[in-house]
Amino acid sequence: MIVSRVLVQGGGIGGLVAATALARRGVEVDVVERRPADSVLGVGLIQPGNALRAMKEIGVLDAVLLAGRQADELRMINPDGTVLAGVPLPSVPELPTSSNMLQRRELCRVLLDAATAAGARLYHASSSATLREDDDGVDVTFTGEAAPAAGRYDLVLGFDGIRSTLRRHLFGDRYAPHLTGFSVWRVGMPCPPEVDRTVYGIVGDLKATLVPLGGGESYLALIAPEESVQHGLTAPEIAAQMRAMLGKFGGWVGELAERVSDESSAAYGPIEQVSLDERWYRGRILVAGDAAHATSPHMAQGAAMAVEDAVVLAQELERATSVPEALDTWWNRRIPRASLVQRYSAALMRKEQGQAAPEDLELLEMPFPQAQALLAQPY
Ligand SMILES: Cc1cc2nc3c(=O)[nH]c(=O)nc-3n(C[C@H](O)[C@H](O)[C@H](O)COP(=O)(O)OP(=O)(O)OC[C@H]3O[C@@H](n4cnc5c(N)ncnc54)[C@H](O)[C@@H]3O)c2cc1C
Repeated sequence: MIVSRVLVQGGGIGGLVAATALARRGVEVDVVERRPADSVLGVGLIQPGNALRAMKEIGVLDAVLLAGRQADELRMINPDGTVLAGVPLPSVPELPTSSNMLQRRELCRVLLDAATAAGARLYHASSSATLREDDDGVDVTFTGEAAPAAGRYDLVLGFDGIRSTLRRHLFGDRYAPHLTGFSVWRVGMPCPPEVDRTVYGIVGDLKATLVPLGGGESYLALIAPEESVQHGLTAPEIAAQMRAMLGKFGGWVGELAERVSDESSAAYGPIEQVSLDERWYRGRILVAGDAAHATSPHMAQGAAMAVEDAVVLAQELERATSVPEALDTWWNRRIPRASLVQRYSAALMRKEQGQAAPEDLELLEMPFPQAQALLAQPY
């Protein structure tokens, strides 16, 4: 192994997988996470086959399957809630299912356990303060009451999400997230009986997705175009807008409006993207996951790409004879898949909301199952 000490900034999905994959190979890993322990943002997550392959690689496949619900198909519904079609998901030969759906806090619990069991050290409520790099390493100081002592690392990984401070450290404000013109409204609720797999339906320019999760829970996401971001919405205001949107659907979907109460922990946010038009690293500092290529959620592949970034990086650091060689091969392996997900997801988003450009339609000539089948190929 060409690195012996690595810092991971960001203890989210990608960062914890990177920490586990590296610590299992004998690397000393520190993870700094800005949020306090036990605080996870978001409701649920779909893990397609390629994400499950990465879970298997770091030894947590059984644990994530136990925490979630599995399905080999999506279901499209009509605006009145009746079934329109089933969309099969590609199978991955070495896996028992094509997709897993689970609560984000459950996934983070599994990944946190795996990272600490592998020997990684987790520091919550902390972050890097200064980074000084030379040819052989990076000297880092930290902020936060329980932060690690200042130290020197062979490599620093920025899995610090869409508003990455390490991305800013490397590239300034050149790659700030940009608005896509669409927003997403989310809420968790007990799982309706009709939601035994991911179900989605479109009415006008509004898309509803319902995802069954482990523990009898589910989450509902509504995506709609928006001319400008609504700042400072309260939870009851978000819930009221969700109820109005659900009212555009008939049948059991429309009736879900009654379950979105003012007390629901409904969330709202614009859909943003991050696209770097250069390598995701400089010297011994890199960004990965949402920090490098945040995407719209239409293929349910954002976190899958983050975990692929993490396991492929560990593979290349093990295989290569120098850090520059490892990072070069890593980036060349990652860019085609991450860029396909980003371009295809954005094209799908615009098409579903009636705003497709000619290049979107050209890309979408590859049907969704075929695009997913491409991603189900080994990374
Ligand atoms: C509505 C919606 C639905 C989605 N559904 C899916 C899905 O079904 N399947 C899927 O694969 N993807 C999905 N995604 C995408 C997925 O959520 C992200 O791609 C994924 O979380 C990215 O992982 P990450 O580790 O790169 O970043 P994150 O999960 O955002 O983790 C970043 C971590 O870094 C921490 N951090 C930030 N700044 C600092 C700092 N300065 N110092 C220390 N720590 C810091 C944060 O607190 C956070 O814990 C969805 C996204 C949205 C918006």
